[in-house]
Amino acid sequence: MDHFLYRNGELHAEDVAIAEIAAQVGTPFYCYSSATLLRHFRLFDEALDGLPHLVCFAMKSNSNQAILKLLAGAGAGMDVVSGGEYARARAAGVPGERIVFSGVGKTAEEMRAALEGGIRQFNVESEPEMAVLSEVAVSLGTVAPITVRINPDVDARTHAKIATGKSENKFGIPISRAREVYAHAAALPGLKVIGVDVHIGSQLTELEPFETAYLKVAELTRALRADGHEITRLDLGGGLGIPYTRSNEAPPLPSDYGALIKRTVGDLGCEVEIEPGRLISGNAGIMVTRVIYVKSGEGRDFLIVDGAMNDLLRPSMYEAHHDIVPVAEPAPGAEQQPYDIVGPVCESGDTFAKQRDMPALAAGDLVAFRSAGAYGAVMASEYNTRPLIPEVLVDGDRFAVIRARPSYDEIIARDHVPDWL
Ligand SMILES: *Cc1c(COP(=O)(O)O)cnc(C)c1O
Repeated sequence: MDHFLYRNGELHAEDVAIAEIAAQVGTPFYCYSSATLLRHFRLFDEALDGLPHLVCFAMKSNSNQAILKLLAGAGAGMDVVSGGEYARARAAGVPGERIVFSGVGKTAEEMRAALEGGIRQFNVESEPEMAVLSEVAVSLGTVAPITVRINPDVDARTHAKIATGKSENKFGIPISRAREVYAHAAALPGLKVIGVDVHIGSQLTELEPFETAYLKVAELTRALRADGHEITRLDLGGGLGIPYTRSNEAPPLPSDYGALIKRTVGDLGCEVEIEPGRLISGNAGIMVTRVIYVKSGEGRDFLIVDGAMNDLLRPSMYEAHHDIVPVAEPAPGAEQQPYDIVGPVCESGDTFAKQRDMPALAAGDLVAFRSAGAYGAVMASEYNTRPLIPEVLVDGDRFAVIRARPSYDEIIARDHVPDWL
């Protein structure tokens, strides 16, 4: 459920008309709903009621500081995957003890910054990483709390580019080698082993892969304890999918996911962390664009909008589907016609949808791409020297620009032309 609904014939974000934001901010832009973000966070938080837990928002899905602050204020921790994300979370006021550091390629500089600034734990993904982290911690006269990310060799049954839990993926340590790797970690002077970490992929629409993975985590936890490790924390990753079409069968609910967690690992006496990103932010955001031209081709009509693949990459990167709706509510029973919906970038891949049925649209009309709050603004680039589009946060009847559109001058001023030219 989200808070982007038609009211009085116009799409609203909570109590604010999208057309009003468009008039003030210009198009294209991202628009997020505070109520939806908070609602999704609380669904997870409540699903783990009764277990000691921390819901760490996977901020790679949406890292605007206003969003981080909103969620952290409700009690969220953060899952970061780079030194930049760590710095952003801290800038947004998130305390170090609520930040977990994931990722396969952490550098010594990133580790140092997190150890100095405060960190809940590192989710370590390889033995070479362990060696470097131990060295950095020793050099700072401290000890780094770690979990080891294990790769459970489970098929997440999701898009190949976002599956991470099979042995052929680059992530984690094969579960078959886990005990040996934990023994190695325990012997390093700068590390303190505290738990087990797993994350099998993104946009999972079934619970079975989670169940298989978490049962393996439970079994491993018992084995590691028998080996003498103190395992007090389990990081179970993110990945629960969202409905991208409203006609679709709905993916599992956070409450069912929470029940599954309690059933599989609830008896181990561990503190549980989860790292949802998409389910918190995905349906809490839309991208609003304006139709520039309607172009009639041979046998098809193109809707050329002012948003493009550099603003919302998911359709060209993952063949992802986004529901696209007119901002002015179509009359009931309005006739539909198929359009290819494309952006202005000079790539055929800059296509959002092919032969999508829409009510008749004209130049100047606003259209909204739904489910664009996760992996939208964060993946944007300035390809074709198109400015990063603004982000707007709505809260009830008020809204604020939480990232402004840069001017051409600002973009161009970042280049440096050497004095020999
Ligand atoms: C991407 C990622 C997540 C979040 O995945 P979602 O599908 O957005 O919930 C969580 N943990 C790790 C380690 C990730 O890489």
